[in-house]
Amino acid sequence: MDLAFDRQHIWHPYTSTINPLTCYPVTHAQGVTLYLEDGKTLVDGMSSWWAAIHGYNHPALNQAAHQQVDKMSHVMFGGLTHQPAIDLCKQLLALTPDNLQQVFLADSGSVAVEVSLKMALQYWHAKGEQRAKFLTLRHGYHGDTFAAMSVTDPDNSMHSLYKGFLPEHIFADSPKTGFYDRWQESDIDDFRSKIALHHQQIAAVILEPIVQGAGGMRIYHPQFLREVRRLCDHYNVLLIVDEIATGFGRTGKLFACQHADIQPDILCLGKALTGGYMTLSATLTSKAVADTVCSGEAGCFMHGPTFMGNPLACAVASASLALIAKGDWQIQVANIESQFAKRLPDFTTYRHVKDVRWLGAIGVIETHHPVNMSVIQALFVELGVWIRPFGRLIYLMPPYISDSKHIDSLLDAVETAVQNDDCFQIS
Ligand SMILES: *Cc1c(COP(=O)(O)O)cnc(C)c1O
Repeated sequence: MDLAFDRQHIWHPYTSTINPLTCYPVTHAQGVTLYLEDGKTLVDGMSSWWAAIHGYNHPALNQAAHQQVDKMSHVMFGGLTHQPAIDLCKQLLALTPDNLQQVFLADSGSVAVEVSLKMALQYWHAKGEQRAKFLTLRHGYHGDTFAAMSVTDPDNSMHSLYKGFLPEHIFADSPKTGFYDRWQESDIDDFRSKIALHHQQIAAVILEPIVQGAGGMRIYHPQFLREVRRLCDHYNVLLIVDEIATGFGRTGKLFACQHADIQPDILCLGKALTGGYMTLSATLTSKAVADTVCSGEAGCFMHGPTFMGNPLACAVASASLALIAKGDWQIQVANIESQFAKRLPDFTTYRHVKDVRWLGAIGVIETHHPVNMSVIQALFVELGVWIRPFGRLIYLMPPYISDSKHIDSLLDAVETAVQNDDCFQIS
């Protein structure tokens, strides 16, 4: 592959054009293995950012894509409908909380979040109330488009860069009590006082349930989520739950909300929705919210992407949900979790490790110093694994089909890296 061209002309996520790191060329992938151009193989620890839960090149997903591409790859969704969308939405309604009855299909996670925020704004507009603020948590991540960014952690997403353009919303302290810790009542104090103070302006609360992903890989106590639901009900504020990362079994429950037994008013799904094959997202809401939105001045929900309900993506998503419905993920995720639980605590004895945490098929190693990206990335590749840390976080979210040897090789590689001073920026 022409890596010089890639380096010179192609922008990769969050990279500099002045000093780009060279990317590793992948030729194909199978199961949990990525194949590099030079013949090297890597055990995947990332599921391509939470998405490839069934592994790569899965026969059932391939078949769904092949069958659909021969019928119709795409057709506009305005005024037309098709079987793959109907099948997919039926499956989504069967899997998600009962109160959710309307599905809006969109292109990416960020767009699903934009859609959820617009739904909340149109909902209050239709009710004749001026509510234009959102309440969210510090250390959150909801995407890279403007509205999604406006409810993402202000420091991590550099809100200061966009001052004057980005709407300013309300941030409450993120929960400190870990998933397995004893619940601390005071954890909800800041959230409670902010919703009490501002509820008349707040259209909705938006948060990631149980696991805050790209904003810090924090795993928090279910009681926090129960308190949030209770306070939203008390103050009559909508609750948007962003399960784009946590959805479809990653945390050990089908949806992370289930750890707290709560139902959101609006639910955002993405990432693993197509089993990592292509981009697709969904925003679900209740009949009451949807009908209120549509009773307003506009008479409809004001959104409609060109590639809405893309049949190819819907067909693959539908096949992925059929795999989920079989239920093998439950034992697979539980096995991965028990391996994390067995080995991660010992990692805290290493000098560079500050904290470890895990839930379901998510394992997190927080370090004292930021990683030296080029060194640690090269070391991981040399050790035959694909792990992509950021900042002070080395984290694992392997495909569910990973066996115990795969998980051990990921953990072995991390164990090697955290003992190597060169892997960290120690100033
Ligand atoms: C990744 C992510 C998004 C954004 O999804 P994209 O498909 O990257 O636009 C939104 N919310 C959460 C919680 C995510 O993890």
